[in-house]
Amino acid sequence: MSNFSRYSRRQFLTTAGASAAGAVFLKGCVGNPPTDTAQTTPAASPAASPVASTETPETPAIKLGYLPILESAALIIAQEKGLFAKYGMTEAEVSKQASWASARDNVVIGSQNGGIDGGKWQMPMPHLISEGIITNGNKVPMYVLAQLSTHGNGIAISGAHAGQELGLNVSNAADYIKGFQAANDRKFKAAFTFPNVNQDFWIRYWLAAGGVDPDNDVDLLAVPPAETLQGMRTGSMDAFSTGDPWPYRIVTEQIGFMAVLTAQIWQFHPEEYLAIRQDWVDANPKATKAVLKAVMEAQQWCDRPENRAEMAQILSGRNFLNISKEILDPPLAGKYSLGDGKPDVNDIKQGPLYWKADIGSVSYPYRSHELWFLTETIRWNFHNGAIADIDAARQIIERVNREDLWREAAQEAGIAASDIPANPSRGVETFFDNVKFDPENPEAYLNSLQIKRV
Ligand code: CA
Repeated sequence: MSNFSRYSRRQFLTTAGASAAGAVFLKGCVGNPPTDTAQTTPAASPAASPVASTETPETPAIKLGYLPILESAALIIAQEKGLFAKYGMTEAEVSKQASWASARDNVVIGSQNGGIDGGKWQMPMPHLISEGIITNGNKVPMYVLAQLSTHGNGIAISGAHAGQELGLNVSNAADYIKGFQAANDRKFKAAFTFPNVNQDFWIRYWLAAGGVDPDNDVDLLAVPPAETLQGMRTGSMDAFSTGDPWPYRIVTEQIGFMAVLTAQIWQFHPEEYLAIRQDWVDANPKATKAVLKAVMEAQQWCDRPENRAEMAQILSGRNFLNISKEILDPPLAGKYSLGDGKPDVNDIKQGPLYWKADIGSVSYPYRSHELWFLTETIRWNFHNGAIADIDAARQIIERVNREDLWREAAQEAGIAASDIPANPSRGVETFFDNVKFDPENPEAYLNSLQIKRV
């Protein structure tokens, strides 16, 4: 988006005040945003005068869904520390969802019908829901507004496979995994909680990097966590691609060990996101920015090491993760026992982070990261090729990604300029196996991969 259009929109919203007119303007602008992930975009003009933070939102109410894992921390903290209320969202509500499928179904319904307005999502669920790809053709346009967390996920292996060199580089165990079927009358079996999103991407990337074809050499499938853990105990499930606190629990409860943390696969990788229905955002632009400011302040609070003990206490509550605080303390301190002879991890930067990483923002929704998720969607030919190519992916991102709203909210909230990325691309990303993803040339990344469905 050019400086001019961004500046104009902010000035319009600042001076016009009328939410209906603002919504029309937002929609008109979003219909044809010129920003391309590949281009270098300068920072928004610092000359614009910020909207007063005391400006009353169009509505004080929003219902945001979440799954009870550590990635939802910023939403829960924003509510429990009174940050939604601080910015005028006095009736904001975070709503625990039974599963990712329930969250999807509830956002299609919308809060006026007992569902939700938005919430926390694995990627690229907002894009898939917007396009009707995982909603039986029912297109519910959504906006991605912020990233909620990085790290905090990993690939757990049943204890039955200890000593088989299942680690970061899985090539040493490739023969063992591929030969599993001959010895056991079934393939090596691995689970995640929802198909074609983050945890599926992490285990696929890891397996394929070690020469194991995730579509042919193993059985990969969506299974509820409790069933997966039971299967890992009894020997019917071999691996689980999952989020904190499960990586910690699986080792301490002697269910298995960790092959790898996602922080080791791709340092400071994009994880889960805040996304809200487009109709809600367009009707409530001030309330949207109020929500963003509350979430940003919560993310900053979550990243301060001195707050992590209180954070664990709050998140452990019955209404939230409903788990003992002692289980949340170690991952929030970046302390993981991987098991199976691997060295322990003890580095807060290897655990979940919410606001800032060494190589940029965690909260800001980089378009280049959404392009990786959609490139990987193309790599594995998910959804029968519904996202046909990189051009189609870029067009979807232009409709769904609202990094401009994040930027406006950050400036209005007085976030330090150094914490506001100047570019919607984080640049070239490097994975543990030294494969590179250049968002200006995703085709080169696809070409470089050995195992793929394109
Ligand atoms: Ca996750």
